[in-house]
Amino acid sequence: MKYYIGIDLGGTNIAAGLVNEDFEIVASKSCPTALPRPAAEVEADMAKLCTELAAEKGLTMADIGWVGIGTPGAVNPITGFVGFNANFGYRDWYLGKNMEALLGCKVYVENDANAAAYGEYAAGALKGATNAIAITLGTGVGAGIILDGKLYSGSNHAGGELGHMVIVKDGRPCMCGRNGCWEKYASARALAEDTVEAMKQNPDNMMWKLVDGDLSEVGAKTAFDALHAGDELAKAVVANYLEYVACGLTNLINIFQPEIVCIGGGVSKQGSALIDPIQAYVDEEDYARNNISRTRIVCAELFNDAGIVGAAMLGKQEA
Ligand SMILES: [Zn+2]
Repeated sequence: MKYYIGIDLGGTNIAAGLVNEDFEIVASKSCPTALPRPAAEVEADMAKLCTELAAEKGLTMADIGWVGIGTPGAVNPITGFVGFNANFGYRDWYLGKNMEALLGCKVYVENDANAAAYGEYAAGALKGATNAIAITLGTGVGAGIILDGKLYSGSNHAGGELGHMVIVKDGRPCMCGRNGCWEKYASARALAEDTVEAMKQNPDNMMWKLVDGDLSEVGAKTAFDALHAGDELAKAVVANYLEYVACGLTNLINIFQPEIVCIGGGVSKQGSALIDPIQAYVDEEDYARNNISRTRIVCAELFNDAGIVGAAMLGKQEA
């Protein structure tokens, strides 16, 4: 059995997993990212996690096929160079080369959203597809595009930022500098913010009870919980939110016509309450709605493991 190591390098935690040829995580370890601190310290911690994981199975790094890392930022997957990682405050980071020097094995680096999409493609909801899109609804909208079985990131490796397509001209301001980006309406954070606004205008609504009167406790789940309890306001908030999610998805489907789209992030735990209204909207508006072959919309399957599995499988792209 051959083993690979995948690392999901996040702003809060570094999560690493030993993955076998069947794409299963057989051992995992994590440590705090502990930002802000120098890149060399983060690299040393990642290398330590790798050697410890290998040792757990009685292996050394020489027995590991390769190491893959998913990191925030603009990544050149060919050189492992991270041009800019705003979350970490690093610029021009030779992450791939530095890790290869520390570990003595091949190291692949990808953008974290791309790595997670590749995980769903290799072993999760997108398995078996040739053209697919993975969306993660979180603080923003993360995305990865698989075209002809490979991650697509454009001529400069900054492509696939689907969350920053504008769906409302002159809409809500976004940190990217534009206004009205999809993620300002379709992220889990946007749903929580919309819920807070609706609650402020309806001080007697039941959602206040769900959070013990504390608006800082409102999350993307709050409106769904109230919806399931039959609350009309929550129903309206969720319906409005899902229209934005579906509007952006329909744009993407009209461009790519993928076989399948998977939606991840905490909100995807809502299952059919999330998927069914989106699929209905897309079925009405998709340009190819009369085609026999239609895009299926499903929930992600690997959740938090997608980043580790996808990173560990990055080397398969070359195979
Ligand atoms: Zn934006």
